[in-house]
Amino acid sequence: MSTTRTAIVTGAARGIGRGVALRLAADGMAVAVLDLDEAACEPVVAEIEGAGGRAVAIGADVADEAAVAAAVERVVAELGPPTVLVNNAGVIRDNLLFKMTTDDWDLVMNVHLRGAFLMTRAAQKHMTAAGFGRIVNLSSTSALGNRGQANYAAAKAGVQGFTKTLALELGKFGITANAIAPGFIETEMTAATAARVGIPFEDFKAGAAKEIPVARTGVPADIAHAVSFFVSEGAGFVSGQVLYVAGGPKA
Ligand code: NAP
Repeated sequence: MSTTRTAIVTGAARGIGRGVALRLAADGMAVAVLDLDEAACEPVVAEIEGAGGRAVAIGADVADEAAVAAAVERVVAELGPPTVLVNNAGVIRDNLLFKMTTDDWDLVMNVHLRGAFLMTRAAQKHMTAAGFGRIVNLSSTSALGNRGQANYAAAKAGVQGFTKTLALELGKFGITANAIAPGFIETEMTAATAARVGIPFEDFKAGAAKEIPVARTGVPADIAHAVSFFVSEGAGFVSGQVLYVAGGPKA
């Protein structure tokens, strides 16, 4: 299949989003590398272009309705209508419930849920017009519950309900929606967690790897590989699924 698809990957300046952006570009897609800070997206764009791909850096807060609308219109103008969307932007504000502030609850809900909602609503019209679309939302093993993450666990469980509903509503337009729930992936997010609990990142990773059946922690390419499958042309009969990518059967 030689159609060039345009993909938007949110939170793509670093971590899992960066890995997904690089992979989708390598798969032949034009990629909008979207993150809060446009300048932080430039190195990822340069990496894609250096490998012969097409990409554009877009600065936008996914929780800001006007910014999202403008960002999607820029993608249309600069790369063409987006038919692939990866809602990956994320933040953590961990704390035990009794210490969790309302602001920390609201921020996590806004980035993960409001952000995925706004991005998807803005992008879907281009997918329905094309009669083709692939939406992948980043959930987490924390959706099953995780001490100190009442906000994040609720948001990531919410992402799963959102994904299944998208699958139901958008399927007849040739659009699939799936979620990926990663386990421990080596990024600045997990490094920040290690720093917060005062454990060197290497020790933190080694401790986590002991609990993971494949005996290692994950890397962004592990998630990018799963995204690549879900957004592929041939995956049109796979929708509404949650794939735990966690190195074993238990999250
Ligand atoms: P990360 O390294 O912290 O990267 C997240 C990116 O999202 C950052 O570049 C961040 O920008 C951006 N971002 C934050 N808020 C945003 C907003 N409002 N609008 C646009 N971009 C925003 O995190 P990661 O580990 O790669 O995680 C990526 C996704 O996977 C997240 O949804 C996360 O919850 C999920 N996940 C990660 C793990 C893991 O083990 N790492 C496990 C399960 C699920 P700034 O740098 O400017 O803040």
